[in-house]
Amino acid sequence: DKEELKQLVNDKTESKDGVHVELAANIGTPNDLEGVINNGAEGIGLYRTEFLYMGRDSMPTEEEQYEAYKRVLSEMKDKRVVVRTLDIGGDKELPYLNLPHEMNPFLGYRAIRLCLDQQDIFRTQLRALLRASTEGHLSIMFPMIATINEFREAKAILEEEKAKLKDEKVKVADDIEVGIMVEIPSTAAMADIFAKEVDFFSIGTNDLIQYTMAADRMSERVSYLYQPYNPAILRLVKQVIDASHKEGKWTGMCGEMAGDTTAIPLLLGLGLDEFSMSATSILKARRQIKNLNKVEMTKLAEQALNCATQEEVIELVNQVR
Ligand code: PEP
Ligand code: MG
Repeated sequence: DKEELKQLVNDKTESKDGVHVELAANIGTPNDLEGVINNGAEGIGLYRTEFLYMGRDSMPTEEEQYEAYKRVLSEMKDKRVVVRTLDIGGDKELPYLNLPHEMNPFLGYRAIRLCLDQQDIFRTQLRALLRASTEGHLSIMFPMIATINEFREAKAILEEEKAKLKDEKVKVADDIEVGIMVEIPSTAAMADIFAKEVDFFSIGTNDLIQYTMAADRMSERVSYLYQPYNPAILRLVKQVIDASHKEGKWTGMCGEMAGDTTAIPLLLGLGLDEFSMSATSILKARRQIKNLNKVEMTKLAEQALNCATQEEVIELVNQVR
């Protein structure tokens, strides 16, 4: 089995009927790159930069960040690297930030909310990213976007830092795509509006599921409500993908669901363009997609959208798996 999978390392990912999708990897540090390359990822769909900030007692400097981003971008060469800006808060804490204790940290001061408030932190990261942008194929992604105003503000800050660097005669790539994570239901609901302004979406199902079902992703007691295949989630995913395609944009997914063998037939059918997962899941996902017919999966997904429960959806998928 392992040998059979290895044969697929350099293959493109195409369905049986010839539709290409991109299989990318999620990484936390540059040290994950070896696994990414050995497993034949077509890019990096999520670089969780918060690990640069964790396990230490002060902020990483612009220079430290620049070195990390440069390494990832240059090793991935022309393959796309989607770097997510700092997503701290929720379950991830930074002791040296002295954040106030909150009743509901997952609904609190985190990610882009913190970055727009403490702009020095955000601007330092953006500068490091922009400086590294000439080393490879960089895309920038903002986490936990809830409103279009947050996106506009974050993008404006990015443009300001770009302009400053250009004034300082620092080279910056001019084709950097800027996208958002769709992990808050309000953003999925407004996907058509967002699609006119962002370059891409990446659906963060780990959070999208918890916020849609109002079920804490860390709580065992309510874990029965954590339902990736619930038609409510599938409908949101469809809405986001359709909205992006209408504007000629692409949609990826970087939550756990993207590498899940039960979800993959449905996501292919819904028209997902990029699947980003842990490197060790990539070859299995590639083999699975090669054996699926996209036209048939579109019909399967349509049926799934009209199911009443997650159980019905699972039963449906099991017939083709
Ligand atoms: C997600 O929410 O699906 C996601 C990919 O981000 P994280 O798991 O880092 O919150
Ligand atoms: Mg998330």
